[in-house]
Amino acid sequence: MEKKQNLETICIQAGWQPKKGEPRVLPICQSTTFKYDTSEQMADLFDLKASGYFYTRLQNPTNDSVAAKIAALECGVGAMLTSSGQAATFYAIFNICNAGDHVVSASAIYGGTFNLFAVTMKKLGIDFTFVNQDASDEEIRKAFKPNTKAMFVESISNPGMNVVDIERMAAIAHGEGVPLIVDNTFPTPINFRPFEWGADIIVHSTTKYMDGHAVSLGGAIVDGGKFDWDAHADKFPGLTQPDESYHGLTYTQSFGNTAYLTKAVVQLMRDLGSAQSPQNAFLLNIGLETLHLRMPRHCENAQKVAEYLLSRPEIAWVNYPGLKGNKYYDLAQKYMPGGTCGVMTFGLKGGRDLSVKFMDQLQLIAIVTHVADARTCVLHPASHTHRQLSDEQLTAAGVAPDLIRLSVGIENVNDIIADIEQSLKSI
Ligand SMILES: *Cc1c(COP(=O)(O)O)cnc(C)c1O
Repeated sequence: MEKKQNLETICIQAGWQPKKGEPRVLPICQSTTFKYDTSEQMADLFDLKASGYFYTRLQNPTNDSVAAKIAALECGVGAMLTSSGQAATFYAIFNICNAGDHVVSASAIYGGTFNLFAVTMKKLGIDFTFVNQDASDEEIRKAFKPNTKAMFVESISNPGMNVVDIERMAAIAHGEGVPLIVDNTFPTPINFRPFEWGADIIVHSTTKYMDGHAVSLGGAIVDGGKFDWDAHADKFPGLTQPDESYHGLTYTQSFGNTAYLTKAVVQLMRDLGSAQSPQNAFLLNIGLETLHLRMPRHCENAQKVAEYLLSRPEIAWVNYPGLKGNKYYDLAQKYMPGGTCGVMTFGLKGGRDLSVKFMDQLQLIAIVTHVADARTCVLHPASHTHRQLSDEQLTAAGVAPDLIRLSVGIENVNDIIADIEQSLKSI
């Protein structure tokens, strides 16, 4: 077996492997389609008898190179890119759930994911039970039903900053015969690799740290290749029984440990079409090349900003898993000893109104609907990303009404702190 390279080298070198005379840098294959010499060659592709490119909605060489890099970073058996993180999450669930099925999800998740699950997927007949991921094993197990097909968590929740006890969640999910799907957007594989702790499927919003420069929307699904679908064949007929749309082919028989990923590409992407543009994949790849340099700086800056905020009399509370005394400090140390990410939340004494005022006075730090960017930015979830949620749902998602989400960038940390200080003094 090939010796596994280190993460830094994978960031730079994995994916595109040029042969003699080919471009050193990943080329953008800006082509919807691919040429063949005979009709039969093309027919074999449509029947999945041969592998190759034929239409960019299903597969594109630029996208596949970038997906291969993400798979290598996560130590998965394969990955696919999607047009957004939302598409990745939807596909990851829909790939193994039909109308009438059920999923157990942590309640502390991204607002967009909550809406997708509780509103849109519910309309498709897929039901979700939201659980407090910090509850006892017994309590969480009560949420599972005979028709439960997956468990979903975020490794670090957005914006609650809850660090999930992934080993425990994997044990619960596997005890119930279902895979654990993990949204690993916030720590990225630089700081946390869920497959090493029992996760089965990983999703990413590559829009965030992976791109890192706020230039292109994207998502990814990574298959860990370890979940034994055939051992629970009756639960996952889509993978273990013939697919009529491919002349009765059975994914687990034909594709072994990449059955899940292959189905997501050849069936869901074929039919739903949320493909990433090759141009965006090219930009994402440039972002990935420096991910290993940026993540430690995000964490270093965030740690200093969190400690600074904690020292200020105007601040009511600071929630950053890197702070000693934080509820998730020990879990963060266990799973992410190199750091968590650059995102934190805090509230001002004076509550919701003062929090909004504070944000309006910031100069360097921008108010944007974004997070995990090279540039420091803030958002007030109760007024922005989570405004559809009731107060009850906000609390369940770990979002206090006065909560400010601060995404610390990679500028000089003294300038970030100076901007916070001038705003605090002006309110
Ligand atoms: C942003 C985000 C998403 C959604 O990703 P998009 O690329 O915006 O569609 C999903 N999960 C988490 C944790 C996110 O931060």
